[in-house]
Amino acid sequence: MKIAIATKNLGKLKEFQELAKNTQYEFFPIPANIESLPPETGKTFYENALIKAKFISDTLEVPAIGDDSGLEVDILNGEPGIYSARYADSGQDRDNCLKLLENLKAIKDPQRTARFKCCLVGFYKGKIIKSFGSLDGEISTEFKGENGFGYDPIFITKSGFHLAELKKEEKNLISHRSAAFTKLLKEIPKLIC
Ligand code: IMP
Repeated sequence: MKIAIATKNLGKLKEFQELAKNTQYEFFPIPANIESLPPETGKTFYENALIKAKFISDTLEVPAIGDDSGLEVDILNGEPGIYSARYADSGQDRDNCLKLLENLKAIKDPQRTARFKCCLVGFYKGKIIKSFGSLDGEISTEFKGENGFGYDPIFITKSGFHLAELKKEEKNLISHRSAAFTKLLKEIPKLIC
């Protein structure tokens, strides 16, 4: 069974394909002629993930999975949340991190707690499945590590490493996306039956 992944991010697609390699499903990226996904106008990770999944499923007439994820910082009442990708004006990863460090500069440990969240939604012919994953940690005061993307250099995991210090396979074992994806895999039969 072929299932479209409603993302333009090849890194995410590879992560999903790796997690699904022992299943009967074949996950494929959206074709190049679909130049962009609809704008993320939802108020929650779920609404944004559904917008993407529905658009791709309706366009390609196959089951599709949409995702949305972001970072929630407790002392900032869950900011940047659904705006994680565009927190700083430039939307560049480093600028997003710098803005967050600036906004937290007066905040000391242990009040720098945060979590990554991911919502995945599967859509096909009006049927919807969903799953959530999260990864708890805290925001550091400095950048560390060369791997990953987004807020990885300033996110300290429970094991004390910055996410950007972990290898891809190590991050995949604990990430909010893999937690959500593992749960969603179990729901897929409900979508395609
Ligand atoms: P989206 O799910 O592609 O919309 O991602 C939203 C934004 O959340 C990304 O651009 C990153 O800034 C942030 N983000 C989501 N997941 C991660 C992660 O695993 N590491 C670091 N940043 C992340």
